[in-house]
Amino acid sequence: MSVVNGYRCVACAGTQPAEFGGYLCPHCGGNLDINYDYAGAVSRIDDEGFGVNTDGMFGFAPLLPVECTGSFPLKVGATPLYPATRLGRSLGLNRLYFKDETVNPSASTKDRASAVVLRRALELDVTTVATASTGNAASSMACMAAGLGLHAVVFVPEKVPAAKLAQLLCFGAQVLAVRGNYDAAFDLCLEACAEFGWYNRSTGLNPFTREGKKTCSYEIWEDLGRQAPDWIVVPTGDGNLASGIWKGWRDLRAAGLVDRLPGIVCAQSENSAAISLTSRRVVESGESGDWSRVVLAEVNASTVADSISVDRPRDGLAAVRAVVESSGLAVTVSDEEILQAIPEIARSTGLFLEPSAAVSWVAVRHLVQNQQVGDNDRVICLASGSGLKDIPSAQRAAGAPLVIDPDIQSLRRALAGRQ
Ligand SMILES: [Zn+2]
Repeated sequence: MSVVNGYRCVACAGTQPAEFGGYLCPHCGGNLDINYDYAGAVSRIDDEGFGVNTDGMFGFAPLLPVECTGSFPLKVGATPLYPATRLGRSLGLNRLYFKDETVNPSASTKDRASAVVLRRALELDVTTVATASTGNAASSMACMAAGLGLHAVVFVPEKVPAAKLAQLLCFGAQVLAVRGNYDAAFDLCLEACAEFGWYNRSTGLNPFTREGKKTCSYEIWEDLGRQAPDWIVVPTGDGNLASGIWKGWRDLRAAGLVDRLPGIVCAQSENSAAISLTSRRVVESGESGDWSRVVLAEVNASTVADSISVDRPRDGLAAVRAVVESSGLAVTVSDEEILQAIPEIARSTGLFLEPSAAVSWVAVRHLVQNQQVGDNDRVICLASGSGLKDIPSAQRAAGAPLVIDPDIQSLRRALAGRQ
């Protein structure tokens, strides 16, 4: 039995019972956060255990809002936490890690959210699920829907990278490329779900997405011997990953499983920085007393990191709260730095990341330069998506190979640096 005991609005703190069937707060339109009976969860943990197992993230069932009975067709979560010793040492950091989310079924961390949302759709007896997405959430939902035999409808901006589009189409989703940006796709998806009765997975609207992403924190906690790191650096676009990561640690504390919590670092492109700008303003002005009065900064996003290019972050307030309440930090970096980081990370760690995931490492460099992290701090970068999702950006960063004639003299000249 799930131990959900209701919903609480991120903005006005208004509550709804566990039976509530809507997506947003009926009082103010704010996003909802799922509440648990933590004493009940602890009792379930004692009975069933709590940790990654053959079911991946569903090994954390006692703190998930869906029934996890029966196996799931794809393995989501249970991803590796790799020490990045050489890369860390290049900045004088002794304990840098990458949480490699690229090994999830559709090669991004969004699979955690899709898995929980689609289990929810099955509980609701819904056969069509829909989402708006900059690409990864859509290919993830399409992937999970294919595994479960559900019908997927996705709304993406017309300029979504080709690899993500190809993934979607191969998974059999009905793909609608909307002339406009992510925000236009989001609004159309909302309208379509109301009109046709589809279940809306869209991030920052559906409260179950955060609940999937939080399992990433549970795994980090488990991998670090049931302790928190000092910092978790989160590539941030719509804010749902940052708020999900923070939710995981709040759960662990409420269940008495950890006492010290990490600082959440919101890592953004300076060309898509609504959450960072708002977080800094809230900290400086002390607005955090009343979250319902906090207004997100307005930006016109345009970054090479397409997965985190967002004008209006749909889970923005919850992400700002994650930064502020965790005594975290907000870091913005340039697109040029993001592109350079792709081969830099790959050559030092063996991880091939898409631009949005590479943002985390660039943010770490800024933190070290600004002396905001210590040499012995444990720092986790979330490697949120695979480099194979955006080959043109990787090519821009890595350049072209040497082309030689098929003879040894030509090879010798090439190796000597002469063509
Ligand atoms: Zn509200």
